[in-house]
Amino acid sequence: MDRRNFLKCSLAGTAGVAITPESLAEKVKAGMIIPGAVSSDGKKGAVSTDVEKHLAVSGYVKEPAHKIPVVAEADVVVVGGGAAGVSAAVCAARQGVSVILVEKANYLGGLWTGGLVLPVLATHGKGKNKAWDKATGGFCTEVCDTLLNNGWAIKPLNPKVDPEATKYLLDKLIAEAGVRIVYNATAAGVTMSGNRIESVLIDCNTGRLALRCKMVVDASGDGCVFNFAGDPYEARRYHMTTTYRMAGFRSFPDDHDSPLLDMRTGGFGVNEPIDGLDIFEVSHRQQQHRLGIWEAVEERKKKPGHENIYLMEVAPTTGLRVTRVLNSIHNVTLEESMEWTAFPDVIGMSGVCDPFYYKGRWIAHEDRPIWQIPYRSLIPQETHNLLVCGRCFGYDQGITWDAREISTCMVTGQAAGTAAALSTLQRCAAKDLDVSRLQDTLRKANVRLDF
Ligand SMILES: Cc1cc2nc3c(=O)[nH]c(=O)nc-3n(C[C@H](O)[C@H](O)[C@H](O)COP(=O)(O)OP(=O)(O)OC[C@H]3O[C@@H](n4cnc5c(N)ncnc54)[C@H](O)[C@@H]3O)c2cc1C
Repeated sequence: MDRRNFLKCSLAGTAGVAITPESLAEKVKAGMIIPGAVSSDGKKGAVSTDVEKHLAVSGYVKEPAHKIPVVAEADVVVVGGGAAGVSAAVCAARQGVSVILVEKANYLGGLWTGGLVLPVLATHGKGKNKAWDKATGGFCTEVCDTLLNNGWAIKPLNPKVDPEATKYLLDKLIAEAGVRIVYNATAAGVTMSGNRIESVLIDCNTGRLALRCKMVVDASGDGCVFNFAGDPYEARRYHMTTTYRMAGFRSFPDDHDSPLLDMRTGGFGVNEPIDGLDIFEVSHRQQQHRLGIWEAVEERKKKPGHENIYLMEVAPTTGLRVTRVLNSIHNVTLEESMEWTAFPDVIGMSGVCDPFYYKGRWIAHEDRPIWQIPYRSLIPQETHNLLVCGRCFGYDQGITWDAREISTCMVTGQAAGTAAALSTLQRCAAKDLDVSRLQDTLRKANVRLDF
């Protein structure tokens, strides 16, 4: 089943009506939500608050109490260096505050580069003038234009990129902005002082270390930080797909759809929603996908003209679409996205990427409007110095396809990073930030805020 048909099937059961908290039972029934994982237990500063909801726990061991050395301090610590995290880190640093970016891999881009998810979707949608309109602007447009102008991407609308060139560009932008990068470090917990995160704990090959911070941006994709901090969230189930690249296609120069003429990408997986927080399940699938990909490429080599193709790489980043999604102060709903809702606290716009059922009608991709993202959807309910961006900010199940596309991740990343920097400068909680100042700053950075 292809992406559009999957969408059709997954949404058909809800008759296309905006999904509200009241229809939770329906979603659980449809297998899209994990029962019992809808809110956290409210404990602050835990290393993990949700293990029992995803894994069969057969007892506990006690870790001896120990002191954790503080090895660095920054105004803003960004966890996760995917499309959202890089946008957040660069845009925070451009406001003149000190920024540390923590990334568990040794490259930037997350699913975009490491997951080999190369087309930047949802850059456009239908504008009020009924024409196809660019939704994003700001850092997203800056990055896409640089990739296109250098020949590292093709197609101005929803550009498809060369992943190594993208990693290069993201590293360059991070270095130029003066962000301090910490690779090979996994955020493993937080320490709290009341409702504030005091430090982010990271695990690396020198053990567990602490980074002291004033503000934190959770760009981990999986909502690791808001989970550690004890903020409410929803755990959603999605299918997992592993992307791979094949090379050796020189004999088919005319049908290429990538800046790299010799290559093709493929996706492998079953369209069956899984719990992406169950590491055993995810690991089993990853293994099956790798075996399947190898065998599929061997089979493809038997086709006439394909004798010289070979498997170049299987994506190093696991292809999980959605796991935890924040229960923010206001999660954007499908209805708001379809009805031109203007938010007083708008911080960016999303384009669209798929058709779907809405109010009993099948709405074509070209007829779906661009939609606004409110600042409140980036703010957790409890923790005062945390902002959330990328595929785990607060949005309704029904707009999942747009809300987690790469361009929308960059839009929420830019807003979260800028807001974190301004909150540091104004010494206020994220929710108390002067939103008009945030909007002015975003407009100056060419972010589109109006229909
Ligand atoms: C198979 C598949 C196909 C897709 N197709 C498209 C498409 O065609 N076009 C499109 O626009 N979008 C597509 N998407 C969606 C899109 O790729 C992602 O939603 C988007 O890239 C997410 O960006 P992000 O920065 O929010 O998260 P991620 O890319 O997941 O980045 C999160 C980063 O945080 C790091 N991290 C996580 N936890 C920790 C931790 N505890 N400590 C330190 N670092 C941590 C990760 O290593 C990662 O680098 C697809 C997704 C998948 C899985």
